[in-house]
Amino acid sequence: MRWGRFGVTQHGRMKIKSAEFDRSATDLKSCPNWNRPEFAFIGRSNVGKSSLINMLVERRDLAMVSGTPGKTKLLNYFIVNEKWCLVDLPGYGFAKATREKRADFNEAVADYIEKRENLRCTFILIDSNLPPQPIDLDFLRWVGTVGSPFVLVFTKADKLSSTSVEKNIAAFMKSLDGWWQELPGFITCSAKTKSGRDEILEVIAESLASKKAERSSGQIADA
Ligand code: GDP
Repeated sequence: MRWGRFGVTQHGRMKIKSAEFDRSATDLKSCPNWNRPEFAFIGRSNVGKSSLINMLVERRDLAMVSGTPGKTKLLNYFIVNEKWCLVDLPGYGFAKATREKRADFNEAVADYIEKRENLRCTFILIDSNLPPQPIDLDFLRWVGTVGSPFVLVFTKADKLSSTSVEKNIAAFMKSLDGWWQELPGFITCSAKTKSGRDEILEVIAESLASKKAERSSGQIADA
């Protein structure tokens, strides 16, 4: 797992040649039996996840699929460049996300993040327009306890001045003080201006170039 602000360095621009909806999974058991690397996206509802996914793969309404009736609580799979998978996870909205209270939020998401071997990285979306939200911190703490690799993505960065965005990010990072030895990796982005797109694709490209995900690095003590 890498830490700190991400930049575009090694792999240059990843071209998105194709992005297709593949299937929806109801739980870990029904996830596809393949060895494609998977990159998951999650955040509370309205964080800008659909807009970000569409911006990332340059499709106007790819992530609309996930919002159609019956699909909002499912793990929605999209195959990109016939090589890797973007997994749109159901939004979270739970009170406590400690390991013991796992059942309080989507069990399928918990199982997926905790156990899915194909999962290379979860992009956890945080609204850069808001001060730190307990719901995001709770989720992050839970992810930390299971030691699954993740990158924070601060969304909608075009809406406020860059000073305000930086202030919110700094406050968020300060809330994580002491959870890990170093602060987690993060990217600031906007679906409107496309800022952050290259950085997210860089994380994916870098992971695709490496052989296997390093699970368990960056694990924090049980909450
Ligand atoms: P989701 O519920 O997380 O999938 O969020 P959506 O992608 O549907 O976005 C929620 C709202 O935020 C919509 O009104 C979007 O137009 C708006 N939004 C999403 N991303 C951005 C962004 O980068 N900049 C701005 N200004 N608005 C955004």
